[in-house]
Amino acid sequence: MRFSIWDKGDEESRALSARFREQAARYGLESDDEKPDIVVSIGGDGTMLQAFHRFRHLAQSVSFVGVHTGRLGFYADWRKDELDDLVRMIAEAQPKIVQYPLVQAEYESGGERLVQLALNEFTLKSAEGTLVAELRINGEPFEMFRGDGLVISTPSGSTAYNKSVGGAVIHPSLEAIQIAEIASINNRVYRTLGSSIVLPKHHYCDVKTEKPVDLWMDHLLLKLHDVQSIRFHVAKEKISFARYRPFPFWNRVRESFII
Ligand code: NAP
Ligand code: MN
Repeated sequence: MRFSIWDKGDEESRALSARFREQAARYGLESDDEKPDIVVSIGGDGTMLQAFHRFRHLAQSVSFVGVHTGRLGFYADWRKDELDDLVRMIAEAQPKIVQYPLVQAEYESGGERLVQLALNEFTLKSAEGTLVAELRINGEPFEMFRGDGLVISTPSGSTAYNKSVGGAVIHPSLEAIQIAEIASINNRVYRTLGSSIVLPKHHYCDVKTEKPVDLWMDHLLLKLHDVQSIRFHVAKEKISFARYRPFPFWNRVRESFII
């Protein structure tokens, strides 16, 4: 079993990484940052987003597990005081592999077709002023959006930015993407649906703009200056998490937002 650790970079996370390595060596686990079987993220949900993008090219073969140093995370279920147990489980137990949907964005830039994946969401904003964009669903006109931006999220990302803008929380066993508005202008001239929409697998949404846009892919910013249209849909690839014990989604929602 080859592992790689991605930590948040603060003192506490780095100390936990060191401890993980020390324990792992005792079990004969091999450290491999190029082709790991398992990636251990130590920090918060933001750290898992970084780990995902670092190992995105290995999406088919790698699984992720998260240790949180702060509050319980959506992607991180192990507490720091359980680190030794986690190392032992990785060495000795067979995890359940749980797969979550990703969202894909495709566009043409510089004569090339580019494909990007996000774990939480893509957020589309204008690079200059209000975002004006035409939304088409499955090739048919849907609405003309005018406002601050659009959040196109995965089910597991539905508790992040999407939730802040009034989107629904969606269980990650549903293969879908959600499109939520950020401060749309609605008056006699401009009209959008107003509520967020959920697209199933095999549906797609094209967003057409005439001006430069900022496309946020999770925490990463892509500045798109020559892109006329971006297509969003549920990705074929998924992210795999290694579960050594149950981690029910609705418990996480409750623990994060209610109790
Ligand atoms: P950040 O600004 O440090 O984190 C934003 C917060 O979102 C952190 O508390 C983070 O948890 C939490 N978070 C991340 N993924 C989540 C998920 N799937 N469910 C619930 N909470 C989640 O930036 P970051 O840590 O690099 O995270 C990037 C994410 O921030 C973006 O993907 C976007 O979802 C979110 N964001 C939210 C808003 C907003 O709500 N207005 C605006 C911009 C971006 P940790 O503290 O555990 O890292
Ligand atoms: Mn963060």
